[in-house]
Amino acid sequence: MSTTHGYAARDSQSSLAPFEFQRRSLRECDVQIDVLYCGVCHSDLHQARNEWNNTIYPVVPGHEIVGRVAQVGPGVTRYKSGDLVGVGCLVDSCRTCASCAEGLEQYCENGFVLTYNGADRQSGEMTFGGYSTRIVVDEAFVLRVPDKLDPAGAAPLLCAGITTYSPLRQWGAGPGKKVGIVGLGGLGHMGVKLARAMGAHVVLFTTSPSKVEDAKRLGAHEVVISKDPAQMQAHANSFDFLLNTVAAQHDLNPFIELLKRDATMTLVGAPGHDHPSPQVFNLIFKRRRLAGSLIGGIAETQEMLDFCGEHGITSDIEVIPMQKINEAYERMLKSDVKYRFVIDLDSLRQ
Ligand code: NAP
Ligand code: ZN
Ligand code: ZN
Repeated sequence: MSTTHGYAARDSQSSLAPFEFQRRSLRECDVQIDVLYCGVCHSDLHQARNEWNNTIYPVVPGHEIVGRVAQVGPGVTRYKSGDLVGVGCLVDSCRTCASCAEGLEQYCENGFVLTYNGADRQSGEMTFGGYSTRIVVDEAFVLRVPDKLDPAGAAPLLCAGITTYSPLRQWGAGPGKKVGIVGLGGLGHMGVKLARAMGAHVVLFTTSPSKVEDAKRLGAHEVVISKDPAQMQAHANSFDFLLNTVAAQHDLNPFIELLKRDATMTLVGAPGHDHPSPQVFNLIFKRRRLAGSLIGGIAETQEMLDFCGEHGITSDIEVIPMQKINEAYERMLKSDVKYRFVIDLDSLRQ
């Protein structure tokens, strides 16, 4: 067991505050990681405030983790002390069902184990995430972070990166395809960078006029203010794929109308309240599709990290000390993030 310093929410109303707890002793295939950086995902906020009605308190959020291996269990073969590694949203799954066998652990039919607010498959204890100085994870769920990437900028790849990479690949983003990314937050800005690197024509949709120039700098070929019907109309029936990252309930119809025949809009944003049902005729007449997608499997997460290593892609970040997390949440709610907060865990080691 090892004493770990973290930040936890104790209930849905109060701010996150210091919390000391024990990490488990190393099992056969465990890797103990000193956390260097942890990204701040909007899911952390949804979960800390029980917006998905499934939070078990205290909760230590954080699933965009980059750190260095400090120690390994006797059966570990892939990692050694000093390696730069990452941990994303998952720390275990059943490893035997059809989805796990296909490398799609995020769709595990017997229940995956989330990095926080999950129940460990052996002990039943609740998992605690990366807003903490160290974490212990089975090597099968540890990722290798390319050494050439800045470790702080790489942290958001572990959730924002894979959550956008996986659907962009699944729905064939690439040369000759017109791809729209809806929302320029943590996920959205990674979606823009990744879709551009895959060779697609990228259009960014935002509600924030102040983000137009940034979106272009990040790689968007075109930017549309989604509240402006004339700008939206100019793109009617033209998209091969739309990736919707918006963290709040909104009307999906104006986006569905932008899809070509047979094209898909995939939702990855996971607001606390469902979107109103879209108009059925908008789907029927052009055989349009509405889909969803959850993070990505472990093998695909490694593929994404290697892709980012080759293309030099990291997140645009604002590094904060752990003590500023509550302020960061308030700013995230105001869409005032450029474009991901990343916690420097040294702030808890002093
Ligand atoms: P974020 O950084 O807060 O970005 C969300 C963006 O949505 C904002 O920057 C804003 O972009 C737009 N937005 C916010 N409120 C809006 C509103 N009322 N109407 C229209 N647009 C609005 O959040 P994130 O970390 O990227 O996460 C986005 C969502 O994805 C969250 O719900 C999160 O829980 C979810 N998520 C899902 C998965 C998955 O596996 N499916 C994984 C990770 C996260 P503009 O200012 O450009 O309009
Ligand atoms: Zn996340
Ligand atoms: Zn499984």
